[in-house]
Amino acid sequence: MINANTDRYPELREAVSDLCERFGDEYWRELDDSRDYPEAFVKELTDAGWLSALIPEEYGGTGLGMAEASVILEQINRCGGNAGACHAQMYTMGTILRHGSPEQKKKFLPEIAGGQLRLQAFGVTEPNTGSDTTKLRTRAEFKGDYYEIHGEKVWTSRVQHSDLLLLLARTTPLDQVKKKSDGLSVFLVDLREATGDELEVHPIQTMMNHETNQVFFSGLKVPRGNLIGEEGRGFRYILDGMNAERTLIAAECIGDGYWFIDTASAYAGEREVFGRPIGQNQGIQFPIARAYVNLRSADLMRYQAADLFDQGVKSGAEANMAKLLAADASWEAANVALQTHGGYGFARDFDIERKFRETRLYQVAPISTNLILSFVAEHVLNLPRSY
Ligand SMILES: Cc1cc2nc3c(=O)[nH]c(=O)nc-3n(C[C@H](O)[C@H](O)[C@H](O)COP(=O)(O)OP(=O)(O)OC[C@H]3O[C@@H](n4cnc5c(N)ncnc54)[C@H](O)[C@@H]3O)c2cc1C
Repeated sequence: MINANTDRYPELREAVSDLCERFGDEYWRELDDSRDYPEAFVKELTDAGWLSALIPEEYGGTGLGMAEASVILEQINRCGGNAGACHAQMYTMGTILRHGSPEQKKKFLPEIAGGQLRLQAFGVTEPNTGSDTTKLRTRAEFKGDYYEIHGEKVWTSRVQHSDLLLLLARTTPLDQVKKKSDGLSVFLVDLREATGDELEVHPIQTMMNHETNQVFFSGLKVPRGNLIGEEGRGFRYILDGMNAERTLIAAECIGDGYWFIDTASAYAGEREVFGRPIGQNQGIQFPIARAYVNLRSADLMRYQAADLFDQGVKSGAEANMAKLLAADASWEAANVALQTHGGYGFARDFDIERKFRETRLYQVAPISTNLILSFVAEHVLNLPRSY
Protein backbone atom coordinates (compact mmCIF):
# COMPACT_ATOMS: atom_id res chain seq x y z
CA MET A 1 0.00 0.00 0.00
CA ILE A 2 1.32 3.46 -0.91
CA ASN A 3 2.35 5.41 2.15
CA ALA A 4 1.52 9.03 1.40
CA ASN A 5 3.85 10.96 3.70
CA THR A 6 1.00 13.19 4.83
CA ASP A 7 -1.02 10.21 6.06
CA ARG A 8 -2.34 11.18 9.46
CA TYR A 9 -3.41 8.91 12.30
CA PRO A 10 -1.26 5.86 11.45
CA GLU A 11 -2.41 3.92 14.52
CA LEU A 12 -6.05 4.48 13.71
CA ARG A 13 -5.42 3.40 10.12
CA GLU A 14 -3.72 0.23 11.31
CA ALA A 15 -6.56 -0.68 13.68
CA VAL A 16 -9.21 -0.20 10.97
CA SER A 17 -7.08 -2.11 8.44
CA ASP A 18 -6.74 -5.03 10.88
CA LEU A 19 -10.53 -5.26 11.03
CA CYS A 20 -10.86 -4.90 7.24
CA GLU A 21 -8.34 -7.70 6.67
CA ARG A 22 -10.88 -10.14 8.08
CA PHE A 23 -13.26 -9.08 5.28
CA GLY A 24 -11.16 -9.56 2.20
CA ASP A 25 -11.83 -9.14 -1.50
CA GLU A 26 -13.83 -12.36 -1.77
CA TYR A 27 -16.23 -11.15 0.94
CA TRP A 28 -17.05 -7.98 -1.03
CA ARG A 29 -17.17 -9.87 -4.35
CA GLU A 30 -19.72 -12.36 -3.06
CA LEU A 31 -21.91 -9.59 -1.65
CA ASP A 32 -21.70 -7.79 -4.97
CA ASP A 33 -22.89 -10.98 -6.71
CA SER A 34 -25.75 -11.63 -4.30
CA ARG A 35 -26.56 -7.93 -3.69
CA ASP A 36 -26.57 -8.59 0.04
CA TYR A 37 -25.84 -6.19 2.87
CA PRO A 38 -22.42 -6.51 4.57
CA GLU A 39 -24.06 -7.32 7.90
CA ALA A 40 -21.10 -9.13 9.49
CA PHE A 41 -18.69 -6.33 8.55
CA VAL A 42 -21.01 -3.58 9.79
CA LYS A 43 -21.54 -5.45 13.06
CA GLU A 44 -17.79 -5.70 13.72
CA LEU A 45 -17.26 -2.09 12.78
CA THR A 46 -20.06 -1.05 15.16
CA ASP A 47 -18.83 -3.28 17.99
CA ALA A 48 -15.34 -1.82 17.62
CA GLY A 49 -16.86 1.65 18.10
CA TRP A 50 -15.71 3.05 14.75
CA LEU A 51 -19.16 4.09 13.57
CA SER A 52 -19.77 6.13 16.74
CA ALA A 53 -16.66 8.22 16.10
CA LEU A 54 -18.56 11.52 15.96
CA ILE A 55 -20.78 10.89 18.98
CA PRO A 56 -19.38 12.58 22.11
CA GLU A 57 -18.22 10.31 24.94
CA GLU A 58 -20.97 11.61 27.25
CA TYR A 59 -23.47 9.86 24.94
CA GLY A 60 -21.44 6.66 24.70
CA GLY A 61 -19.59 7.42 21.46
CA THR A 62 -15.86 7.45 20.85
CA GLY A 63 -15.79 11.26 20.65
CA LEU A 64 -13.30 11.59 17.82
CA GLY A 65 -13.01 14.52 15.39
CA MET A 66 -14.04 14.78 11.75
CA ALA A 67 -10.48 14.19 10.51
CA GLU A 68 -10.25 10.90 12.40
CA ALA A 69 -13.77 9.87 11.35
CA SER A 70 -12.83 10.54 7.73
CA VAL A 71 -9.74 8.36 8.08
CA ILE A 72 -11.88 5.45 9.33
CA LEU A 73 -14.09 5.54 6.21
CA GLU A 74 -11.13 6.22 3.92
CA GLN A 75 -9.34 3.18 5.27
CA ILE A 76 -12.31 0.87 4.62
CA ASN A 77 -12.32 1.83 0.93
CA ARG A 78 -8.54 1.85 0.76
CA CYS A 79 -8.57 -1.78 1.89
CA GLY A 80 -10.97 -2.71 -0.94
CA GLY A 81 -14.28 -2.48 0.94
CA ASN A 82 -17.19 -0.09 0.56
CA ALA A 83 -18.03 2.20 3.47
CA GLY A 84 -21.14 3.39 1.59
CA ALA A 85 -23.02 0.53 3.21
CA CYS A 86 -22.77 2.15 6.63
CA HIS A 87 -21.25 5.65 6.41
CA ALA A 88 -24.56 7.33 7.22
CA GLN A 89 -24.62 5.73 10.69
CA MET A 90 -21.65 7.94 11.43
CA TYR A 91 -23.07 11.31 10.39
CA THR A 92 -26.91 11.24 10.18
CA MET A 93 -27.11 11.49 13.97
CA GLY A 94 -25.37 14.90 13.69
CA THR A 95 -28.80 16.50 13.17
CA ILE A 96 -29.94 15.22 16.58
CA LEU A 97 -26.61 16.14 18.18
CA ARG A 98 -26.70 19.72 16.87
CA HIS A 99 -30.42 20.47 16.85
CA GLY A 100 -32.19 17.87 19.00
CA SER A 101 -33.58 18.58 22.47
CA PRO A 102 -31.67 17.32 25.56
CA GLU A 103 -34.34 14.58 25.90
CA GLN A 104 -33.93 13.47 22.27
CA LYS A 105 -30.14 13.33 22.64
CA LYS A 106 -30.41 11.29 25.85
CA LYS A 107 -33.00 8.98 24.33
CA PHE A 108 -31.38 8.26 20.96
CA LEU A 109 -27.64 8.96 20.93
CA PRO A 110 -26.44 6.30 23.42
CA GLU A 111 -28.31 3.55 21.55
CA ILE A 112 -27.09 4.82 18.18
CA ALA A 113 -23.54 4.82 19.59
CA GLY A 114 -23.93 1.27 20.86
CA GLY A 115 -25.43 0.08 17.58
CA GLN A 116 -28.71 -1.03 19.20
CA LEU A 117 -30.37 1.60 17.02
CA ARG A 118 -29.42 2.11 13.43
CA LEU A 119 -29.99 5.61 12.09
CA GLN A 120 -28.50 5.33 8.66
CA ALA A 121 -31.38 6.31 6.38
CA PHE A 122 -32.33 9.83 5.43
CA GLY A 123 -35.07 10.87 3.07
CA VAL A 124 -34.47 14.13 1.25
CA THR A 125 -34.52 13.39 -2.51
CA GLU A 126 -37.88 13.06 -4.26
CA PRO A 127 -38.67 11.70 -7.73
CA ASN A 128 -40.36 14.85 -9.03
CA THR A 129 -38.06 17.51 -7.65
CA GLY A 130 -34.53 16.00 -7.56
CA SER A 131 -31.81 18.53 -6.73
CA ASP A 132 -34.41 21.29 -6.29
CA THR A 133 -34.86 20.29 -2.63
CA THR A 134 -36.98 23.19 -1.41
CA LYS A 135 -39.72 22.20 -3.86
CA LEU A 136 -40.10 18.79 -2.29
CA ARG A 137 -43.71 17.68 -1.99
CA THR A 138 -43.77 15.30 0.97
CA ARG A 139 -45.89 17.02 3.60
CA ALA A 140 -46.30 16.64 7.34
CA GLU A 141 -49.63 17.77 8.74
CA PHE A 142 -49.84 18.68 12.40
CA LYS A 143 -52.64 16.77 14.13
CA GLY A 144 -52.08 17.65 17.78
CA ASP A 145 -50.05 14.82 19.35
CA TYR A 146 -48.58 13.72 16.07
CA TYR A 147 -47.76 14.70 12.48
CA GLU A 148 -49.21 12.79 9.55
CA ILE A 149 -46.86 12.25 6.62
CA HIS A 150 -47.96 11.95 2.98
CA GLY A 151 -45.69 11.78 -0.05
CA GLU A 152 -42.79 9.86 -1.52
CA LYS A 153 -39.01 9.79 -1.47
CA VAL A 154 -36.56 8.14 -3.83
CA TRP A 155 -33.04 6.80 -3.39
CA THR A 156 -33.63 6.34 0.33
CA SER A 157 -30.62 4.20 1.00
CA ARG A 158 -30.18 1.59 3.75
CA VAL A 159 -33.78 2.00 4.90
CA GLN A 160 -34.12 -1.78 5.14
CA HIS A 161 -31.15 -1.81 7.52
CA SER A 162 -32.24 1.10 9.69
CA ASP A 163 -34.43 1.45 12.74
CA LEU A 164 -34.78 5.18 12.27
CA LEU A 165 -35.13 7.45 9.26
CA LEU A 166 -34.34 11.16 9.22
CA LEU A 167 -37.03 12.74 7.06
CA LEU A 168 -37.32 16.20 5.52
CA ALA A 169 -40.94 17.19 4.85
CA ARG A 170 -42.87 20.37 4.22
CA THR A 171 -44.94 21.64 7.17
CA THR A 172 -45.97 24.98 5.63
CA PRO A 173 -47.00 25.07 1.96
CA LEU A 174 -44.50 26.70 -0.38
CA ASP A 175 -46.90 29.50 -1.35
CA GLN A 176 -47.29 30.52 2.30
CA VAL A 177 -43.59 31.04 3.17
CA LYS A 178 -41.40 34.09 2.66
CA LYS A 179 -38.32 32.10 1.67
CA LYS A 180 -38.67 28.80 -0.15
CA SER A 181 -36.23 27.21 2.32
CA ASP A 182 -38.66 28.03 5.18
CA GLY A 183 -41.50 25.73 6.15
CA LEU A 184 -39.54 22.47 5.89
CA SER A 185 -39.11 20.33 9.00
CA VAL A 186 -37.00 17.37 10.07
CA PHE A 187 -38.51 14.30 11.71
CA LEU A 188 -37.06 11.19 13.22
CA VAL A 189 -39.25 8.38 11.93
CA ASP A 190 -39.24 5.15 13.92
CA LEU A 191 -39.43 2.58 11.12
CA ARG A 192 -40.13 -0.23 13.57
CA GLU A 193 -43.49 1.32 14.44
CA ALA A 194 -44.66 1.99 10.89
CA THR A 195 -47.36 -0.26 9.48
CA GLY A 196 -47.43 -1.51 5.90
CA ASP A 197 -50.42 0.75 5.10
CA GLU A 198 -48.54 3.85 6.19
CA LEU A 199 -45.14 3.10 4.72
CA GLU A 200 -44.21 1.15 1.61
CA VAL A 201 -40.64 0.43 0.59
CA HIS A 202 -39.80 -0.53 -3.00
CA PRO A 203 -36.17 -1.55 -3.53
CA ILE A 204 -34.32 -0.10 -6.54
CA GLN A 205 -31.71 -2.23 -8.26
CA THR A 206 -28.57 -0.29 -9.11
CA MET A 207 -25.32 -0.91 -11.00
CA MET A 208 -23.47 -1.53 -7.75
CA ASN A 209 -24.39 -3.23 -4.50
CA HIS A 210 -26.14 -0.35 -2.76
CA GLU A 211 -29.32 -0.93 -0.81
CA THR A 212 -31.57 1.90 -1.94
CA ASN A 213 -35.32 2.37 -2.26
CA GLN A 214 -38.35 4.33 -3.24
CA VAL A 215 -40.46 5.02 -0.13
CA PHE A 216 -44.15 5.92 -0.05
CA PHE A 217 -45.83 7.57 2.96
CA SER A 218 -49.63 7.34 3.26
CA GLY A 219 -50.68 8.92 6.52
CA LEU A 220 -47.65 7.76 8.53
CA LYS A 221 -48.01 9.02 12.10
CA VAL A 222 -44.91 10.53 13.69
CA PRO A 223 -45.20 11.61 17.35
CA ARG A 224 -44.80 15.33 17.95
CA GLY A 225 -41.79 14.53 20.16
CA ASN A 226 -39.91 13.28 17.09
CA LEU A 227 -39.78 16.69 15.42
CA ILE A 228 -36.14 17.78 15.53
CA GLY A 229 -35.55 21.42 16.48
CA GLU A 230 -38.08 24.03 15.46
CA GLU A 231 -40.86 23.40 12.97
CA GLY A 232 -40.10 25.12 9.66
CA ARG A 233 -36.33 25.36 10.09
CA GLY A 234 -35.46 21.85 8.89
CA PHE A 235 -33.77 22.84 5.65
CA ARG A 236 -31.02 24.65 7.60
CA TYR A 237 -30.57 21.63 9.87
CA ILE A 238 -30.13 19.35 6.85
CA LEU A 239 -27.65 21.78 5.26
CA ASP A 240 -25.63 21.78 8.51
CA GLY A 241 -25.26 18.01 8.23
CA MET A 242 -24.16 18.13 4.62
CA ASN A 243 -20.67 19.43 5.37
CA ALA A 244 -19.95 16.36 7.46
CA GLU A 245 -21.42 14.07 4.78
CA ARG A 246 -19.40 15.66 1.97
CA THR A 247 -16.13 15.57 3.90
CA LEU A 248 -16.62 11.93 4.87
CA ILE A 249 -17.60 10.85 1.37
CA ALA A 250 -14.59 12.75 -0.01
CA ALA A 251 -12.49 10.56 2.29
CA GLU A 252 -14.11 7.41 0.90
CA CYS A 253 -13.26 8.57 -2.63
CA ILE A 254 -9.69 9.16 -1.51
CA GLY A 255 -9.60 5.64 -0.10
CA ASP A 256 -10.88 4.30 -3.42
CA GLY A 257 -8.32 6.38 -5.30
CA TYR A 258 -5.40 5.00 -3.28
CA TRP A 259 -6.76 1.48 -3.78
CA PHE A 260 -6.92 1.97 -7.58
CA ILE A 261 -3.43 3.47 -7.71
CA ASP A 262 -1.92 0.76 -5.49
CA THR A 263 -3.57 -1.93 -7.59
CA ALA A 264 -2.61 -0.34 -10.92
CA SER A 265 1.00 0.27 -9.85
CA ALA A 266 1.42 -3.29 -8.60
CA TYR A 267 -0.02 -4.74 -11.80
CA ALA A 268 2.02 -2.41 -14.05
CA GLY A 269 5.16 -3.57 -12.26
CA GLU A 270 4.38 -7.27 -12.71
CA ARG A 271 2.66 -7.62 -16.06
CA GLU A 272 5.20 -8.25 -18.82
CA VAL A 273 4.30 -7.61 -22.47
CA PHE A 274 6.88 -7.14 -25.27
CA GLY A 275 9.52 -8.49 -22.91
CA ARG A 276 9.28 -5.82 -20.19
CA PRO A 277 6.89 -4.70 -17.44
CA ILE A 278 4.11 -2.55 -18.92
CA GLY A 279 4.86 0.00 -16.17
CA GLN A 280 8.17 0.75 -17.87
CA ASN A 281 6.23 2.51 -20.62
CA GLN A 282 5.56 6.17 -19.96
CA GLY A 283 2.15 5.72 -21.61
CA ILE A 284 1.27 3.50 -18.65
CA GLN A 285 3.17 5.18 -15.82
CA PHE A 286 2.27 8.83 -16.51
CA PRO A 287 -1.51 8.39 -16.18
CA ILE A 288 -0.98 6.54 -12.88
CA ALA A 289 1.41 9.24 -11.66
CA ARG A 290 -1.01 12.02 -12.69
CA ALA A 291 -3.91 10.30 -10.95
CA TYR A 292 -1.76 10.06 -7.81
CA VAL A 293 -0.86 13.78 -7.96
CA ASN A 294 -4.53 14.74 -8.28
CA LEU A 295 -5.50 12.39 -5.49
CA ARG A 296 -2.93 13.87 -3.13
CA SER A 297 -4.23 17.38 -3.74
CA ALA A 298 -7.81 16.21 -3.06
CA ASP A 299 -6.50 14.56 0.11
CA LEU A 300 -5.19 17.94 1.36
CA MET A 301 -8.56 19.60 0.75
CA ARG A 302 -10.26 16.78 2.68
CA TYR A 303 -8.06 17.51 5.72
CA GLN A 304 -8.69 21.23 5.39
CA ALA A 305 -12.46 20.67 5.36
CA ALA A 306 -12.22 18.26 8.30
CA ASP A 307 -9.95 20.52 10.35
CA LEU A 308 -12.22 23.55 9.86
CA PHE A 309 -15.22 21.44 10.89
CA ASP A 310 -13.35 20.31 14.02
CA GLN A 311 -12.48 23.92 14.85
CA GLY A 312 -16.14 24.86 14.55
CA VAL A 313 -15.36 27.16 11.61
CA LYS A 314 -17.66 27.30 8.54
CA SER A 315 -16.47 24.59 6.18
CA GLY A 316 -19.15 24.56 3.46
CA ALA A 317 -16.87 25.65 0.63
CA GLU A 318 -14.05 23.32 1.61
CA ALA A 319 -16.39 20.35 2.18
CA ASN A 320 -17.91 20.85 -1.27
CA MET A 321 -14.54 21.34 -2.96
CA ALA A 322 -13.10 18.30 -1.19
CA LYS A 323 -16.04 16.21 -2.40
CA LEU A 324 -15.64 17.41 -6.00
CA LEU A 325 -11.85 17.00 -6.10
CA ALA A 326 -11.92 13.61 -4.41
CA ALA A 327 -14.75 12.24 -6.57
CA ASP A 328 -12.91 13.40 -9.71
CA ALA A 329 -9.60 11.99 -8.48
CA SER A 330 -11.07 8.59 -7.60
CA TRP A 331 -12.86 8.42 -10.95
CA GLU A 332 -9.66 9.29 -12.80
CA ALA A 333 -7.78 6.64 -10.80
CA ALA A 334 -10.54 4.12 -11.56
CA ASN A 335 -10.23 4.72 -15.31
CA VAL A 336 -6.47 4.51 -15.16
CA ALA A 337 -6.57 1.27 -13.17
CA LEU A 338 -9.01 -0.26 -15.67
CA GLN A 339 -6.85 0.77 -18.62
CA THR A 340 -3.66 -0.49 -16.95
CA HIS A 341 -5.23 -3.90 -16.43
CA GLY A 342 -6.23 -4.26 -20.08
CA GLY A 343 -8.83 -7.00 -20.46
CA TYR A 344 -8.31 -8.23 -16.90
CA GLY A 345 -9.78 -4.99 -15.55
CA PHE A 346 -13.15 -6.29 -16.69
CA ALA A 347 -12.82 -9.61 -14.87
CA ARG A 348 -14.79 -9.90 -11.63
CA ASP A 349 -11.92 -11.51 -9.74
CA PHE A 350 -9.63 -8.48 -10.15
CA ASP A 351 -12.14 -6.23 -8.30
CA ILE A 352 -11.39 -3.24 -10.53
CA GLU A 353 -14.75 -3.33 -12.28
CA ARG A 354 -16.58 -3.60 -8.93
CA LYS A 355 -14.85 -0.64 -7.38
CA PHE A 356 -15.11 1.26 -10.69
CA ARG A 357 -18.90 0.94 -10.46
CA GLU A 358 -18.90 1.85 -6.78
CA THR A 359 -16.79 5.00 -7.07
CA ARG A 360 -18.72 6.32 -10.09
CA LEU A 361 -21.66 7.04 -7.79
CA TYR A 362 -19.87 9.97 -6.19
CA GLN A 363 -20.06 12.10 -9.31
CA VAL A 364 -23.81 12.15 -8.69
CA ALA A 365 -24.57 11.48 -5.01
CA PRO A 366 -24.99 12.81 -2.42
CA ILE A 367 -24.66 15.95 -4.54
CA SER A 368 -23.87 16.09 -8.23
CA THR A 369 -20.76 17.79 -9.59
CA ASN A 370 -22.75 20.59 -11.29
CA LEU A 371 -24.49 21.53 -8.09
CA ILE A 372 -21.14 21.81 -6.28
CA LEU A 373 -19.84 24.08 -9.02
CA SER A 374 -23.00 26.19 -8.72
CA PHE A 375 -22.42 26.43 -4.96
CA VAL A 376 -18.82 27.58 -5.42
CA ALA A 377 -19.80 30.05 -8.16
CA GLU A 378 -22.57 31.59 -6.10
CA HIS A 379 -21.34 31.39 -2.51
CA VAL A 380 -17.58 31.69 -2.93
CA LEU A 381 -17.22 33.74 -6.11
CA ASN A 382 -20.38 35.85 -5.65
CA LEU A 383 -21.57 35.07 -9.17
CA PRO A 384 -25.32 35.35 -9.88
CA ARG A 385 -27.43 32.38 -8.83
CA SER A 386 -27.94 30.18 -11.87
CA TYR A 387 -31.08 28.31 -10.80
C1 LIG B 1 -27.29 5.02 -5.24
C2 LIG B 1 -27.86 6.31 -4.76
C3 LIG B 1 -28.06 6.50 -3.39
C4 LIG B 1 -28.64 7.68 -2.92
N1 LIG B 1 -28.93 7.80 -1.57
C5 LIG B 1 -29.70 8.84 -1.14
C6 LIG B 1 -30.21 8.87 0.19
O1 LIG B 1 -29.92 8.00 1.02
N2 LIG B 1 -31.03 9.89 0.54
C7 LIG B 1 -31.39 10.88 -0.33
O2 LIG B 1 -32.13 11.78 0.05
N3 LIG B 1 -30.91 10.88 -1.62
C8 LIG B 1 -30.09 9.89 -2.04
N4 LIG B 1 -29.64 9.86 -3.33
C9 LIG B 1 -30.07 10.89 -4.26
C10 LIG B 1 -28.96 11.79 -4.74
O3 LIG B 1 -28.59 12.69 -3.74
C11 LIG B 1 -29.48 12.47 -6.01
O4 LIG B 1 -29.53 11.47 -7.03
C12 LIG B 1 -28.63 13.60 -6.46
O5 LIG B 1 -28.70 14.64 -5.49
C13 LIG B 1 -29.09 14.14 -7.82
O6 LIG B 1 -30.47 14.32 -7.84
P1 LIG B 1 -31.33 13.66 -9.04
O7 LIG B 1 -30.92 12.27 -9.18
O8 LIG B 1 -32.76 13.94 -8.81
O9 LIG B 1 -30.82 14.44 -10.32
P2 LIG B 1 -31.43 15.76 -10.96
O10 LIG B 1 -31.63 16.81 -9.92
O11 LIG B 1 -32.58 15.38 -11.81
O12 LIG B 1 -30.23 16.21 -11.91
C14 LIG B 1 -29.88 15.45 -13.07
C15 LIG B 1 -28.60 16.03 -13.65
O13 LIG B 1 -28.84 17.40 -14.02
C16 LIG B 1 -27.89 18.25 -13.40
N5 LIG B 1 -28.59 19.51 -13.03
C17 LIG B 1 -29.79 19.66 -12.43
N6 LIG B 1 -30.04 20.97 -12.25
C18 LIG B 1 -28.98 21.66 -12.76
C19 LIG B 1 -28.63 23.05 -12.87
N7 LIG B 1 -29.44 24.01 -12.42
N8 LIG B 1 -27.44 23.36 -13.42
C20 LIG B 1 -26.62 22.41 -13.90
N9 LIG B 1 -26.88 21.08 -13.82
C21 LIG B 1 -28.04 20.73 -13.25
C22 LIG B 1 -27.42 17.50 -12.16
O14 LIG B 1 -26.14 17.93 -11.78
C23 LIG B 1 -27.46 16.05 -12.63
O15 LIG B 1 -26.25 15.74 -13.27
C24 LIG B 1 -28.99 8.71 -3.83
C25 LIG B 1 -28.74 8.54 -5.19
C26 LIG B 1 -28.21 7.36 -5.66
C27 LIG B 1 -28.01 7.18 -7.13
